[in-house]
Amino acid sequence: MSTSFRVRYAPSPTGHLHIGGARTALFNYLLARKQGGSFIVRFEDTDQSRHVESGIDNQLDGLRWLGVDWDESVDVGGSYGPYRQTERLGLYQPFIDQLLAAGNAYRCYCTEAEIEAERAEQEARGETPKYAGKCRSLTEDERRELEAQGRKPSIRFRVPENRIVAFEDRVRGHVEFESDGIGDFIIVRPDGIPTYNFAVILDDHLMDISLVIRGEEHLSNTPRQLMMYEALGLQAPEFAHLSIILNPDRKKMSKRDESIVQFIAQYNSLGYLPEAIVNFIALLGWSPGGEEEIFTKEELIAQFDLSRVSKSPAVFDMDKLNWMNNAYIKKADLSRIVDLCLPQLQKAGRLPEQLDEAQREWAVKLIGLYKEQLNFAAEIVDKSELFFRDGQEYDEEGRALLAEEHVHAVLSSFKNQVEQAADYTTDSMKALLKAVQQETGYKGKQLFMPVRVALTGQMHGPDLNETLYLLGRGRVLARLANLL
Ligand code: GLU
Repeated sequence: MSTSFRVRYAPSPTGHLHIGGARTALFNYLLARKQGGSFIVRFEDTDQSRHVESGIDNQLDGLRWLGVDWDESVDVGGSYGPYRQTERLGLYQPFIDQLLAAGNAYRCYCTEAEIEAERAEQEARGETPKYAGKCRSLTEDERRELEAQGRKPSIRFRVPENRIVAFEDRVRGHVEFESDGIGDFIIVRPDGIPTYNFAVILDDHLMDISLVIRGEEHLSNTPRQLMMYEALGLQAPEFAHLSIILNPDRKKMSKRDESIVQFIAQYNSLGYLPEAIVNFIALLGWSPGGEEEIFTKEELIAQFDLSRVSKSPAVFDMDKLNWMNNAYIKKADLSRIVDLCLPQLQKAGRLPEQLDEAQREWAVKLIGLYKEQLNFAAEIVDKSELFFRDGQEYDEEGRALLAEEHVHAVLSSFKNQVEQAADYTTDSMKALLKAVQQETGYKGKQLFMPVRVALTGQMHGPDLNETLYLLGRGRVLARLANLL
């Protein structure tokens, strides 16, 4: 074993980078960076039925966007490649031969239909299904006969009987399984392709992986993997299994659950900030202790530690994520938020694809008006809708306010002022409203509320002077004329 610290993220490239995968990758990455080790991304792409052509790029693009960079993978190479399982098939044969020669694995000629029937019988008897071992000790003659029938063998690992397989999980502590609960399992399919459990231990061994950090769903695979390491005389890596992530209802997260955004690419297209997503994901099952919740990537690297990773499930709280992203948006430079919001407004047809100088300046001010309120950039479209609509409608509260006695006087005076104003800027709004106050005698709420409600339909909103300016003289006059 090499002395350097090496960890890996080993997704099956079956689709987009999901929150769960992103967390596994991030925890591996944080620990690698903290310990000055290497972070490897390799792909378990041998399951052709689940293969998605763009799966590898989707995974790498997601990680790249998050800023989770890797030292070895399919794109940058590395001295332990290839990093794609389908390109590694030739590396596994000596290990298959070794297991067969030592009797730790054997050829099994049972067909899928036969296994299915066996399983059904066991279930009918109320037993937990496991391979009964029909081909465990075939003679040469029996084997030849089965092959003569045209049967293609799979290869099964011979699970040692009556053993306790135990290990110290870096998150869960002492874990043990009884080998008798585990039937002899297939390590190579009839088509010669190794199964996950077998290929993964060889990849981890050949890549000198020191520690396997992965999801809890793999916990029950670990005793299988440990027994194979032992049979091959190889030293196993350490293991850390991360608890599952629950949705806000504390139910197991389902990919169909639309109350949460689950894929990293969606966060990107909705205009979340990657460093906020990293911060949020880091806290899914880990906490450094204390009240602080906002951490830069460097702080996460410095503080991350498996000993503070929780055994209990993490709960995905979309409100907290939005709160956190808003905190990052508030801190970010306006120009960065403009870059995120402009395409959203353009995509929604609110702004032309090509902006001239004046349009751009207007848009920057508009985005600035809402920056503090945005949970993510795409929200700008709904929030700023009042600046784009043609007519203005009022809800019950608005109509009641506009029906108050003094309102007509305020709005007529305001309309006159707007018509006569020499120029129409944010600063001139102040003088303009002052003039209305002098003319009508109304001030404060009595002055500002009718103007705000008449022009925006809302009781509350961003800075009034800025709002009036951004609406523009034309829209303001049209809305007032309509109302009066
Ligand atoms: N391909 C497996 C997965 O996506 C990786 C399991 C492992 O890390 O060992 O869950």
